[in-house]
Amino acid sequence: MTPHTVSGSRGLLQAEPLLFEIGDVHRTGVDLPAPKGVDRLGGLKRKAALDLPGLTEPEAVRHYVRLSQKNYAIDLGLFPLGSCTMKHNPRLNERLARLDGFADLHPLQPLSTVQGALELMAELAHWLMELTGLDAVALSPKAGAHGELCGMLAIRAALEARGEAETRRRVIVPSSAHGTNPATAAACGFIVDEVGATEDGHVDLEEFKQKLGDDVAAVMLTNPNTCGLFERDVKTIADLVHAAGGYFYCDGANYNAIMGRVRPGDLGVDAMHINLHKTFSTPHGGGGPGAGPTVLSQALAPFAPVPHLVRRDDKSLALIEHADDASSAPFGRMCAFHGQMGMFVRALAHMMSHGADGLKQAAEDAVLNANYVLARLKGHYNAPFGDQPCMHEALLDDSTLRANGVETIDLAKALLDEGYHPFTTYFPLVVHGAMLIEPTETESKRELDRFADVMIALAERAAAGDSAFFKAAPQHAPTRRLDEVKAARQPKLRWKPEEASARAAAE
Ligand SMILES: *Cc1c(COP(=O)(O)O)cnc(C)c1O
Repeated sequence: MTPHTVSGSRGLLQAEPLLFEIGDVHRTGVDLPAPKGVDRLGGLKRKAALDLPGLTEPEAVRHYVRLSQKNYAIDLGLFPLGSCTMKHNPRLNERLARLDGFADLHPLQPLSTVQGALELMAELAHWLMELTGLDAVALSPKAGAHGELCGMLAIRAALEARGEAETRRRVIVPSSAHGTNPATAAACGFIVDEVGATEDGHVDLEEFKQKLGDDVAAVMLTNPNTCGLFERDVKTIADLVHAAGGYFYCDGANYNAIMGRVRPGDLGVDAMHINLHKTFSTPHGGGGPGAGPTVLSQALAPFAPVPHLVRRDDKSLALIEHADDASSAPFGRMCAFHGQMGMFVRALAHMMSHGADGLKQAAEDAVLNANYVLARLKGHYNAPFGDQPCMHEALLDDSTLRANGVETIDLAKALLDEGYHPFTTYFPLVVHGAMLIEPTETESKRELDRFADVMIALAERAAAGDSAFFKAAPQHAPTRRLDEVKAARQPKLRWKPEEASARAAAE
């Protein structure tokens, strides 16, 4: 039963309406004289009042604190969201990122005053190239998807330099790929050609071979793939695409599973983005854009975007900002400045505090934890590829539960009531009703067992036929089950005062 209270609050979790509903355009939280002559912004003149809601300071503070308490966070509990690598962000990294010398820099400061920061970027680039065995790195992309764009633009530039941009238009993408891969290829003007998966969750090598031809620009492959499996044929795939004159883009979002164990450069990768927020434990988008540096092979290095970090004769560092000043052929630039300094500091702090051996162990522990979860759960859920060890993610599906009327979405909602953010649902698309669980290396055995115990109890409840329990979940979350299809198809993107007052009157 829904806990019902007079106030709508649940225990100490306060009910909270929208800012527009608690504020009032005729109220203000500050006591300043009415501004004069500020109805202009450049050549634009304000025609009507902005109608922003005014609140007292405590109302404003409470509004955001109440909302923040409805949030789930990695600092609150295990966050098993597969493919996202939600792991603990060590506080040491945060401390270093807040040092004045890094946090207070302005991107237009004279280079002579930012040598320490540039040195840090050079050191980070060195670590990334050493770890991946690749020749160059563009630090500026601001997310994994942005890094994909960077890599694919480098490939397009390389094809243009070869005079083959018009003829090599096709990019081969596996059916299990993350949605950003085909989106990036299409955004760069390529034609996306899907290659299927085998029964055991790998790229279908025979079908891949048939797709090769002199119109192929590249293959985009994730390794380990989104089924949480290592693509054993990766070297063959690289050799084949190279022999056909194409490039190998590797989606490096899952690099956290193989870091220190294998160098992508040795596998024949030409371009790969690295999600610092996944592998190197910087917050996901926390406090600003993320960072998705892209490593490039010798073949693509000349096309790396500006700015380029270069060491002068006097050993000081400089940034080459314009393509005309570069000794190579940059395809352009990815963003206004040099990238996300705060993320660079956190990532390098993470690397240096772990050391090379520690990073390797982090990857091994991530794989060990996922295999532990898989081993505990596969007797209770169907594990489509459970007869082989997984990498950093355990993949289950709802096929054994559907007969009892319980589906992946119902389990995800029931997990909310148990105090967990759900696993990734319905991805990868190649598995019907997929549940993708990524525990990461930062969870202890105790936490993994606690989570597995909950998952097992839920599976038993579903097996006992209690579908009503699942359909009613979540019972304890701030909002009950939403009509997600309607929310996606007919999103309400504007708050309208009339609707709000009509609703208040109806209540
Ligand atoms: C996370 C992820 C991406 C995209 O990275 P963002 O930083 O979210 O843009 C791409 N591919 C895979 C497999 C991912 O898991």
